[in-house]
Amino acid sequence: MSGRLVVVGTPIGNLDDLSPRARRALDEADLICCEDTRRTGRLLQSMGIGRREFRVVNEHTEHGQAPQLVSAIAGGSMVVLVSDAGMPAISDPGQLLVAAVAEAGLTIEVVPGPTAVSTAIAGSGIDARRFCFEGFLPRKGRERTERLAAVAAEERAVVLYEAPHRLERTVADLVELCGADRPVALARELTKMYESWWRGTLGEAVAHLEADPPRGEFVVVVEGAVPAPPAELDDEAILALLAAELDEGASRRDAIDHVAATHGLPRKRVYRLATDS
Ligand code: SAM
Repeated sequence: MSGRLVVVGTPIGNLDDLSPRARRALDEADLICCEDTRRTGRLLQSMGIGRREFRVVNEHTEHGQAPQLVSAIAGGSMVVLVSDAGMPAISDPGQLLVAAVAEAGLTIEVVPGPTAVSTAIAGSGIDARRFCFEGFLPRKGRERTERLAAVAAEERAVVLYEAPHRLERTVADLVELCGADRPVALARELTKMYESWWRGTLGEAVAHLEADPPRGEFVVVVEGAVPAPPAELDDEAILALLAAELDEGASRRDAIDHVAATHGLPRKRVYRLATDS
């Protein structure tokens, strides 16, 4: 088969989660791009795969490595991209290389594997029919404050990654902005020996983390904000809406219908205001 980049998901803890397809891709690779050669070397060893040529692709090297890797693929090599754990390009390197290979018009395949984000969503019990992935919050400054405010206002469930030593601070900040009653799930050490789940409110999470200081890897799933009820429109505001419709050339009847329908107002009330004015 001709040259290609194969993006491979690797286990986030439990080695049994490496799929047969992922194993085959690693076995067939001409070159493996990874964050840490020792770690990926151990993964290959545990799978009974012999040594492969490695290239370190991390946040510092990805940009510089991309042209050579694109050339290797153009020359017919099968280049496999993995990260330390989970899916590359999810809070991990990979996006720049994929973009460079795509830009060169070369083939990209993805072998999907475990990722902490979907694993946490699945076990959280939080309504995440619509969710957004925030990943790691900025550590400090205005950027952090703004992102926390955006998380608090978000109506979809939000998934955060957090280091154990910053988890208490982040949960305390979330209480401040989202309120103590917002449901949250803390997913710890997923797929590992000490996997554990905690579900409750943000306020309760503060007490929980005080009693049981966080250790290991965590994902935080925060329920979305309840949408604010539409602001009550007073008579003056309704008259302004009617005037705008009429200015645009609508008939009085169409203006009444449109204002009532788009703002969920009783037609009788809009009609009365339109005819009294
Ligand atoms: N690429 C990975 C993925 O697909 O999930 C994420 C890598 S990111 C550098 C590492 C963060 O992911 C951790 O700090 C933690 O928030 C989360 N994470 C990764 N593995 C985890 C696990 N087994 N249990 C809980 N969280 C995990």
